[in-house]
Formats: sequence, structure tokens, C-alpha cells
Amino acid sequence: MPFGNSFLPNLADVRQEVLDAMLRRPISHRSAEFHKLFANIQTGLRGLFGTERPVYVATSSGTGMMEAAVRCAPRGRILALVNGAFGERFARIAQACGREVDRCEIPPGQVPEPSAVAELLSRGSYSAVTMVHSETSTGALADVRGIANVSRSAGAVTIVDSVSGVGGAPFHFDDWGLDCAVSASQKAIGLPPGLGFAVASADFIRNAADVSDRGVYLDLVSFDAYAQDNETPTTPAVSLLFALEVEVAEVEREGVEARWARHDAMRTSVECWSSQLQRDTDLEVGILARPGARSPTVTVLQLPDAMSSDVLITDVAVRGYLIGSGYGDLATTSVRLGHMADHTVEELAGCLSAIAESFRAIKRAR
Ligand SMILES: *Cc1c(COP(=O)(O)O)cnc(C)c1O
Repeated sequence: MPFGNSFLPNLADVRQEVLDAMLRRPISHRSAEFHKLFANIQTGLRGLFGTERPVYVATSSGTGMMEAAVRCAPRGRILALVNGAFGERFARIAQACGREVDRCEIPPGQVPEPSAVAELLSRGSYSAVTMVHSETSTGALADVRGIANVSRSAGAVTIVDSVSGVGGAPFHFDDWGLDCAVSASQKAIGLPPGLGFAVASADFIRNAADVSDRGVYLDLVSFDAYAQDNETPTTPAVSLLFALEVEVAEVEREGVEARWARHDAMRTSVECWSSQLQRDTDLEVGILARPGARSPTVTVLQLPDAMSSDVLITDVAVRGYLIGSGYGDLATTSVRLGHMADHTVEELAGCLSAIAESFRAIKRAR
């Protein structure tokens, strides 16, 4: 399948130039050449995270960085905001790491409201709040700044999973006053899977040094120390860093704000397309996430009654496009589109017309 035809929610469509970069002979991660590579990618990554802090780079998937963040969190009870599968994963990780966790359950497609979270925080004593920025299982985009404000007032740190957000959705780690945020290479950043990213405030790292049981491999305190010298604590996936260097050059060429605007335009075009489709046909095709809280990188489309996701996905594939099934309980009744990283509005329009044709063809065949 050529570039521009894969709209999976869990895997970016990777540009050939980025893939080609991985064929270079690896270099030692303790060499001057590596220091230069690391410094180069920092500039682009800091732009995507909206920070002047170092961005830690780990050879790990996103989940590894979620675990790293939780293990470095200040001792005490954790409030986990759960509005989908990845919010639930954060809660589960915290429990598995021996933390006491209270869940705040929010219906799929909805997002945590700062006032409701403030209320919960006032009733208990929490050291940290975990939340998901772009909930890839539902396509909802949460108000990270709003939640961080109420957490800070309650004396809790905010830990954000922005695995499908950073790279596509505006993110301002410093201005929003965040404590720790994590992401990964294979979503809106547009790389193959294999790298995890994290940013932590200076205070978060200082406090983490006093937290026991941080482990070794994903200890953010050690990532912070090594990042000062443009290095990683252990041998990184250097080939992926070569790929990242090419992608951050593209980020700088396009501009971070323009990259975010392009994603915003993709969200809008899916919204327009779905209302147009409902007007033109009697098909009930809804977007799961509530208006005003929709991710610019992932859309979950709710299918008309009695249409199953695998029938649609197969028909769309015949028309040359790859889309994903719903997640968990929503697997058969919805499909997910990932419009992220280097996708354009034009490529997305091609995918959306293929989906519309499939809807009509499946309806005719009934
Ligand atoms: C993909 C994803 C993750 C992490 O998944 P990995 O498979 O561990 O990289 C975490 N949170 C969200 C919101 C995601 O989309």
C-alpha cells in the first residue's frame, strides 16, 4: 500500500524518507556523533512537547513510559481519570506498581471535567492524577491544562499520557504547568514503533529521587542525568533515532503550529464529512467523542445498526485504504481512523470517500 493510504489509529503511516534513514550503519551512543544526533532531535521534540525541558528518549513502547512516570510519582494515593482503555491502563499500571488508586470513571466519548475532578480531589488526599490527553480508544481529547490547574491547587502532580496527542495536538508542557508527560514514536510523531518519550519538570525529577522502587531501565531520574550530556542511560535504538532526526527536520520545515493546524483541519474535515453523509443518506454514522472534545488525530465512527466493523474494514481495504476496528467493547460497532503525523487533508478526503462508497455498497447489498 503506498504512503497516504493507511489510516490506522495505532500505527502511523511512515514516510519512505524516514524509513530509509534507518538503513544507516549504527553509531556508538557514547560518541560525539551521537551527542550531535541527540541534540538535533531535542530541538524538534521540545517544540512538539512545548517545553524547554529535555525530552527523554527510551527504547520502549508508550506503555513503558506510562509505567516510568507512575513509578517516579510522589508517594501517596493516585487519582486515575478513566475515560477509555488507555486511562484504564494507567490505573492498572499504578496498581501493579503497588500504588493505591482511585478511579474516576467517565463514559466513553466524554472527557474529565476540571470542576468535577477538583471536587474529587478535595475529598481525598492524592499525590498524583493520571490522565489521557487523546484517548485513542474513543477519539476524545481532554482539557489537560484545566485538569493540571485543579490538580496543582490540590497539591497533586499531573501525569499525562499523550501518546496519540503529541505531534498532532497542541501541547504546552511548560505553559500548562505539567509535571510529567509521555508519548511514543508510532502515533502522531510519525515513526515506526519502538521509542518512548517523556518530559518531566525539574521538581518532579527532584522529588522522584526520593521515591524508592523506581527500578533501573525506565528510571526517569537517570534519563534526566544522561540527557544533560545528550545521552541515554543504556544503548538506544539508534536506527530509530536516525529516523527521528529526519522527521524532526520535517517538523521544523513545516513548523509546529502548522503541523497542529493541519491536524485540526483533518478533524474538521471528518466532522463535515460525517454530517454531510448523514444529510445525503439515511445512514446513521456518528462520531463517538462529544463535539468540542474531539481528537485531531483519531476519530471513532459509530456504525449504523447491524453493520459490523469487519465488513466495512474489508470493503474499504478493497478500495485501497486501511482503517482500524473499534477498541475493546466497541470493536464490532465502530471503526477508528487515525489521521495523524504526515497525513494531509487531501489524503484523508480520499479515505473518507472510500468509506462513504463502502457504506453505500454495503447498504445496497442488504
Ligand atoms: C498507543 C497508545 C499507548 C501506548 O501503547 P504502546 O503499545 O505501549 O506504545 C498509550 N496510550 C495511548 C493513548 C495510546 O494511543
